[in-house]
Amino acid sequence: MNNPAPINNCLWQTLLSLAEPEDREPGTTLLEQGQPPGGVFLLEQGALQVDLAMGTCLTLPAATLVGEMSFLSAQPARARVSCLEACRLRRIDVKDLWSWVATQPEQGHHVIEGLAGLAMQRLQGQFHQDGYVALVAHDGRKPDLLRVAGEWVDLLQSRPLLTTAHTGTLLEQQLGLRVSRRVSSGPLGGDQEVGSLVVAGLVAAVLFFPDPLSSQPHSADVAALLRVCDVCGVPLATNPGSARLLLQALARPEAQPSMRQA
Ligand code: PGA
Repeated sequence: MNNPAPINNCLWQTLLSLAEPEDREPGTTLLEQGQPPGGVFLLEQGALQVDLAMGTCLTLPAATLVGEMSFLSAQPARARVSCLEACRLRRIDVKDLWSWVATQPEQGHHVIEGLAGLAMQRLQGQFHQDGYVALVAHDGRKPDLLRVAGEWVDLLQSRPLLTTAHTGTLLEQQLGLRVSRRVSSGPLGGDQEVGSLVVAGLVAAVLFFPDPLSSQPHSADVAALLRVCDVCGVPLATNPGSARLLLQALARPEAQPSMRQA
């Protein structure tokens, strides 16, 4: 399974002791964008869907927590959070948590520090511990990408996946892959969003299949994504042959090059 950004074990255990577990049905909304702070939720089983602004959608599997930003800032929730599947979680009321912090200065300090660290990571765009494998294909190349991804389902599901909108939907519907982060569709700016995550150092590899036989309204964005992969030295495959080699390399990280000085 791909892991969400790491949560310090001591912080996790402390928070677990502050609320009882509850079961929630798939589709239940935990936090609504723009609503007052609704609590800190600790997810022990299941997975959450986080809908950020502008069409970006994250999947956070257990164990993780959400609601730390509005708890710390006392600002309305910035995202909508719902249960993607049946979930076991604990909800700590915001007022109760602040009261507990006030009565336990030392432990409280560690909890605030831990939540602030997690919030900082997330503000910088890091919601998962490992780098994303980005999967994007133009319409004419989507069958090629689905074929290659279908050969490597286990490997792909062990990594957090980043996709544009329609590519992600197809990977989920046809291969049952779980997409960790879905950005806008390519023509609506999704390729630029993927590029910004490459620049931020959050992407381990890119499988991007542009269609060389048709012109695209967003060809400037396509060229920019290819360029930032080169600028940042991020492995990039643009066709099934290179994608298979790249995925083989990802599956065998222990394989070492043999070195010789020129
Ligand atoms: P799509 O975008 O996955 O939403 O089709 C891909 C692209 O055109 O770059």
